[in-house]
Amino acid sequence: MKHWIPYGRQSIDEADIEAVVEVLRSDFLTTGPKVAEFERVVAEYCEVNLAVAVSNGTAALHCCVHALGIGAGDEVIVPAITFAATSNCVLYQGGTPVFSDVDSQSLLIDPESVESKITPRTKAIIAVDYAGQPCDWDSLREIADRNGVFLVADACHALGAEYKDRKVGSQADMSVFSFHPVKHIATGEGGMVLTNDPVLAERARLFRSHGISSDFRSREKAGAWFYEMEDLGFNYRLTDIQCALGISQMGKLDSYLKRRREIARTYDRSFDGTPVTSLKSHDDRNHAYHLYVVKVPERDRVFSAMREVGIGVNVHYIPVHLHPYYQKKLGLHEGMFPVAENAYKQILSLPMFPSMTDGDVDTVITQILAAVEG
Ligand SMILES: *Cc1c(COP(=O)(O)O)cnc(C)c1O
Repeated sequence: MKHWIPYGRQSIDEADIEAVVEVLRSDFLTTGPKVAEFERVVAEYCEVNLAVAVSNGTAALHCCVHALGIGAGDEVIVPAITFAATSNCVLYQGGTPVFSDVDSQSLLIDPESVESKITPRTKAIIAVDYAGQPCDWDSLREIADRNGVFLVADACHALGAEYKDRKVGSQADMSVFSFHPVKHIATGEGGMVLTNDPVLAERARLFRSHGISSDFRSREKAGAWFYEMEDLGFNYRLTDIQCALGISQMGKLDSYLKRRREIARTYDRSFDGTPVTSLKSHDDRNHAYHLYVVKVPERDRVFSAMREVGIGVNVHYIPVHLHPYYQKKLGLHEGMFPVAENAYKQILSLPMFPSMTDGDVDTVITQILAAVEG
């Protein structure tokens, strides 16, 4: 078979392997010092005060919904085009996800559509920095404040992206990252919650570990064996093995981002004036390019043609309200979010990862232009 170019993949070097091996030889495989260190490194990078490392991005979203006190009868506004985890986390806590349409050119959540979905039951908005481009956070903040609702960033695509010269992570009340191997840095599985609010951070921290407080002062008072379960939580901990990998990976994040942006510029230039339409990126934002999404005519045929020649294109995402579970659960149906549905028929994610060679990039460009010509 031909050389296969996936849509995304991790970059692991000897330093990463060394960092993991060092933990394997140490006293702590989990709940050790690497967890707090990884949290500090990510928080500092994103210019946020507090971070809680968890087992994956989905767990991080669940922590946010719990920390914000969302439950039965509460509505949370989410974009129609996203990974299902964005809205699943609302269902975990018994809340109701309310979908909002997206902007046709950027596929970012459309603030006007968000505004139209606000009701007295709305408790939060979870916006997604789709493909790695920050949302219109100023408009979302204004809508959230005016209506007294929380703002959560599902920033799983956007580690290192910037909105008006500030790193993604501080625009919302709580922000979430994923360290799945296709994302910007890899820990195998992994996630993190970022916030500047100590109360929300503490709630997320408790939720990560069975709702058990490990406050050393109470242990000192009552005896070293003492702990109390204050809340119902899960085991959403991230191991020291994974955190060591994450710390090592963070040292390379800027070089990864630089390469992703370089590849994006090459794609942008090559598709200009062709039937392959790049998504719109805004001048006041620095895109992190987790994905490079284009719109093409006859997407299904182009998808097959690309796969045929060894290029792992993908589709991000099937609008969530089109999934059978959501249709049954919430009575949703096709036709409700026309912008998202129309975009879905055209979108294709092209390979985008830091270790792509210039030759790989040229191959993708040549093949997609050939494929759209039929
Ligand atoms: C990857 C991703 C998640 C979930 O992250 P996991 O670490 O895979 O659980 C959530 N939301 C979006 C938008 C994602 O891309």
